[in-house]
Amino acid sequence: MAEDYYSILEVSRDASAEDIKKAYRKLAMKYHPDRNPGDKAAEEKFKQISAAYEVLGDANKRQRYDQLGHDMYTKGNAGGSGMSAEDLFSQVFGGAGGGFFSDLFGGGGRAANGPMEGDDLSYELQINFEEAVFGCNKEISFQHTENCDHCHGTGAEPGSSKKTCPTCHGRGQVTMSQGFFSVRQTCSTCRGTGQIVEKPCQTCRGKGVVRKKRTISLRVPAGVDTGSRLRVSGEGEAGSNGGPAGDLYVLFRVRPHEIFERDGTSLHCEVPISFCTAALGGQVEVPTIDGRAELTIPPGTQNGATFRMKGKGVASLVRGRDRGDQYVHVVVEVPTKLSAEQKELLQKFEDSGDKNQIYPKWKAFVEKAKKFFS
Ligand SMILES: [Zn+2]
Ligand SMILES: [Zn+2]
Repeated sequence: MAEDYYSILEVSRDASAEDIKKAYRKLAMKYHPDRNPGDKAAEEKFKQISAAYEVLGDANKRQRYDQLGHDMYTKGNAGGSGMSAEDLFSQVFGGAGGGFFSDLFGGGGRAANGPMEGDDLSYELQINFEEAVFGCNKEISFQHTENCDHCHGTGAEPGSSKKTCPTCHGRGQVTMSQGFFSVRQTCSTCRGTGQIVEKPCQTCRGKGVVRKKRTISLRVPAGVDTGSRLRVSGEGEAGSNGGPAGDLYVLFRVRPHEIFERDGTSLHCEVPISFCTAALGGQVEVPTIDGRAELTIPPGTQNGATFRMKGKGVASLVRGRDRGDQYVHVVVEVPTKLSAEQKELLQKFEDSGDKNQIYPKWKAFVEKAKKFFS
């Protein structure tokens, strides 16, 4: 095994600082434990490369190393600087955590102490059927976090200062070794901000945010339905490190109506009519969401017939699309409590005229039945 830092980094003794750095980058990438899980030899090699670069990458240390020679230098500096191979690696590969390997392995790659957008919030809002159809204004109250006014979100008492977190050296992340794997974690000392405050803000206890009740008035557009979502920008949780606040999502739940049933922009209702009206035809009054309206029932209307009333449905949330229609489903009601006189009248009607002429469905059925029995 080559016990010489130059040969470990595969560079000549007169290599430039830039060449040494380049060589380290190349080899460190190749032997990094994340890329060679479970490979003991690669891990050992990675450690050697790191130890070599720690010395040769520093002009002062390199000079001393050249003067003393490998054996003398390493005896005199047993234990090194205490910086782990991983720390050295993340320092060379762009510092603030995340960085190269988490990008490469899908680990997020966002610097932990950069600006972070706040979480989104959701709010369920129950509204009446008509409010959903026509739109309405609603006041809603909810709890969210806001940047603390007292410290302007810094978490530090005004006048006091912040210092670099001693645990993570301002990186916001620490590297934990677990067997062959090393895992980057948010620093628990500074909660990922990279800084600690000397005197925490008294109002927010150093959190930088305070929980507040917020009341906003909401313009609910005509046409929302159960399951519709309305985004209210910037009303979610406060962001951190100067990041924007999240959004508030209002989720609608529409109470059912006694008369109308809704299907998208269509409204449906059942309207009972007398069997006489069904036979003779006539005008009937039907409810619409706009008020009372007249519907013409043609003579000979059957049970279950459907009539469309154009434009009496619900406004569309899609801009430029027409309002929906209302569908009236006719229920022909057969009379139940008849007086003796009424029964007599109906019997007279039943005995009059040619049944084959009056009831085409009945006639067709009788003919089919005859065929079946013959
Ligand atoms: Zn820290
Ligand atoms: Zn504060």
